[in-house]
Amino acid sequence: MDNYKYEQRCHTFKACPLFKHLSSANLQNVLALFSEHQLAPGTLLLSPKQANDCLYLIAEGQLSIHLSDANSPPIGFLNPGDYAGEVSFIDHLNPSAYAVANQTCTVLRLHRRDLPKAYAITPLIQHNLLTVLCERIRTGIHSLLHSEQNAHLDSLTGIPNRRWLDYAFQREQQYCLENNLPLCIIMLDVDYFKNYNDTHGHLAGDLVLQFVALLLREQLRPHDSIARFGGEEFVVLLPDLTLDEAAQVAERLRNSLAALTHLPHILPTLPCVTISLGVAQLSADDQLSGLLNKADQALYQAKQQGRNRVCIHRPE
Ligand code: GH3
Ligand code: MG
Ligand code: MG
Repeated sequence: MDNYKYEQRCHTFKACPLFKHLSSANLQNVLALFSEHQLAPGTLLLSPKQANDCLYLIAEGQLSIHLSDANSPPIGFLNPGDYAGEVSFIDHLNPSAYAVANQTCTVLRLHRRDLPKAYAITPLIQHNLLTVLCERIRTGIHSLLHSEQNAHLDSLTGIPNRRWLDYAFQREQQYCLENNLPLCIIMLDVDYFKNYNDTHGHLAGDLVLQFVALLLREQLRPHDSIARFGGEEFVVLLPDLTLDEAAQVAERLRNSLAALTHLPHILPTLPCVTISLGVAQLSADDQLSGLLNKADQALYQAKQQGRNRVCIHRPE
């Protein structure tokens, strides 16, 4: 490689995290260990179906990164100064994504057997590589946590969803059974909500659901659970309350909405809604579906009796 090209390469990779704090001379010596390759547009450089032995630096052109297959929409791009294959070339396993040349590309390649030569030039390479890999682990964990949290949250109201209720129920059921405590459930449904949407629009309906979810949640104890069960239905789990105490909570929730004529703060021109509620208590042989069924029967009764009221499912 001529001198001009070396200088150009050094300039491209000066800011690359793999070469952080390297002197110009060391960077030049490390880059000299890499061999240069041209990729035609469409070339598959890395694939989860093939083990990878090389670290790649992108010198010219652009690569796209794909998850499910090389033709799926790209999840990111690699440009001059970026690198690829840094995980698979260390652990000698298959890469986790596809890397495809979008256009004619020049990449610089280092085989894993030549890595000790780079370490010999400067131990900073080892340190930088570890830092890059640690960052990968942290972003991986972060996005995993993020997607798990989101999978259990209702996107409209921000409160937990039905999937989360299954999990919360298991936890509360076990706790209450082990400690010989009652566990009650409230199932509640917004009254005449179809009519509300038809009169005020779907967006106003969405705002009401957000308002209802937050108003209900702020009246509960920290260890109570509330979830959006679907549509305009919500479920509340109340550990350590008897059926009559749970009915009092339900009455308080009902009244908090019934007492409002309009939505405060958000859109004071919009009228508020009422809710109907059914309350039931867990018996020893109940699972979540049985308990929900009992609360739903009580809710149905509340609707039948004229709505905006609480009904209780009493054991026979
Ligand atoms: P009832 O008092 O018997 O419960 O009558 P209702 O009109 O509330 O019940 P129905 O089941 O007939 O209608 C429920 C409505 O809730 C219909 C549906 O469009 C609306 N809905 C469900 N999910 C959402 C949502 O996320 N946003 C909005 N704006 N409306 C929703
Ligand atoms: Mg309804
Ligand atoms: Mg409903």
